[in-house]
Amino acid sequence: MATALLSLLLLVPSPAAAWNAAGHRITALIAWERLDQGSKSALAALLRKHPDFERWQARSKDPDADRAAFLEASTWPDDIRRDRRFYTAGRAQPTPTLKGFPDMERRLGWHYVDRPLHRERRARSSPGTLDRQLTALAKVLCDSKRSDAERAYALPWLIHLVGDAHQPLHAASRNGPNGKDDSGGNAQRIINPFQPKHQSTNLHSYWDDLPGKPWLRDKRLESTVKALTSLYPAAAPAGEPAQWLDESWQLAQRATYPPGKDAVLTISAQFHASALEITGRRLGEAGYRLADQLRRLFGKAGERRCST
Ligand SMILES: [Zn+2]
Repeated sequence: MATALLSLLLLVPSPAAAWNAAGHRITALIAWERLDQGSKSALAALLRKHPDFERWQARSKDPDADRAAFLEASTWPDDIRRDRRFYTAGRAQPTPTLKGFPDMERRLGWHYVDRPLHRERRARSSPGTLDRQLTALAKVLCDSKRSDAERAYALPWLIHLVGDAHQPLHAASRNGPNGKDDSGGNAQRIINPFQPKHQSTNLHSYWDDLPGKPWLRDKRLESTVKALTSLYPAAAPAGEPAQWLDESWQLAQRATYPPGKDAVLTISAQFHASALEITGRRLGEAGYRLADQLRRLFGKAGERRCST
């Protein structure tokens, strides 16, 4: 598998704080291809009510407008980090609220829940709330009493966070050499010889960028998804968010930190091949699970289950 995946999952530098855009579009396309027409139509109808629907359309050359909106919506929670209509709590004053939105906060803490690797794993000391948001957003989408605007706000978040839950370093952190929590590997410096022009980075960014170039779209996105889904077919039942985060935590414990205790760790060929394998598998799992969750929330009334 290594050659095919290595050639598909090209590494690029990009300061990011989640699976990069390629990762989110890969996961979203895997899910989209597994949805029934009824779910697709219901999802597209809701995305059309989102204030950024036209921006998403303008950004894509995809002739299928519904699919384009779905794929572009998958990166919206990261896009708003650089969007001046939004603000970061504690650093700026609230900005005017778009019609129907709950607020305009960037919600940086929704993307992760860093459970410490050096303590009992259920310990919850993270400022991140990814675990709770996955459940809360599904509830909003299920609730017919919520307005279209509220549900249109929640949908890109749900698409995005199912992806983030599968990035191991969005569910774990450990104490660095200075004894301080490393914020999901953000404070762990590394040397990555497989990215010759940008060897020096941090461990979190290294993992975020493994899915490929952030501008991955169209034919190359489709061929990447085809290769990934044949390498990693859906195997287990989709499960629930708590299980996805638990798997991420366990992966973080055994496979996401290069061995050694130096302040700056170096990525070996063996570690890099293993990281690419884990990334491909997790992107696939995220896609299958996102499809399952969206079918539950948007499928025909008879199939709809709103207990998540
Ligand atoms: Zn994210």
